[in-house]
Amino acid sequence: MIGDMNGPVIGLTSRTLALEAARKTRPTETVSRSYVEAIEGAGGLAVLLPNAGPAEAERYLDLLDGILLTGGDDPHPRVFGEEPHPRIELVDERRDGFEIALVRGARERGTPILGLCRGVQMLNIACGGDIYQDIASQTDSKLQHAQRRLDDGPWHEIEIRGGTRLARILGAGRRRVNSFHHQACRRPGEGLEITAVAAGDGLTEALEDPRHPFLLGVQWHPELAPDEKKLFEAFVEAAGEQARTASKETRSGRSGR
Ligand code: MN
Repeated sequence: MIGDMNGPVIGLTSRTLALEAARKTRPTETVSRSYVEAIEGAGGLAVLLPNAGPAEAERYLDLLDGILLTGGDDPHPRVFGEEPHPRIELVDERRDGFEIALVRGARERGTPILGLCRGVQMLNIACGGDIYQDIASQTDSKLQHAQRRLDDGPWHEIEIRGGTRLARILGAGRRRVNSFHHQACRRPGEGLEITAVAAGDGLTEALEDPRHPFLLGVQWHPELAPDEKKLFEAFVEAAGEQARTASKETRSGRSGR
């Protein structure tokens, strides 16, 4: 048995890959094992979500207590109204559309949602914000955000702002995080607050919606950092709280009150 058998059900978004192992003939939905283990380690039940349409996103939200937006390839710039920059890498518009629908639905319903790396960018885009398509060519940052270390260890410093949910979870002030991105959040979406910036260039490293039960994203990969389990624990706890509230509402609905 893994984790808590009564733990909340967390949907993990996936990456559609043409796998070498499948002779590239059949696209395959994939999720890195590290995300699954991070959710299970925090007491949640991980469910893989195949990329689908906006209507399916609503149906998934009916079934789930929380959503984890995993890392992945570049969002198509069309989703924030721009033409592709020459440095744009792989895109998948079906995944973009599905994740945007999940974020908007989760925001409206109060469903806890955690975005990691590409996930924080998708949170921002879905709330009306945008991103730098390529940090190196669109900003004057001298900081290398696509880390060159061979392991996944911390690479650059960030500053977490006090008084935020992120600060309550990980602590305010300086912290070293890993960094595997060439894009970054630019203008924050409606109602979102920047909760951490990179030391050195001030680029956004974390965002949250202070009016939502748990809508938070970070630009790094906490699932690869042994000292950041607290982030998954706080997320799964919020999802558990959401599940209990929802089941109470259902029960009182059935009894006609
Ligand atoms: Mn970074």
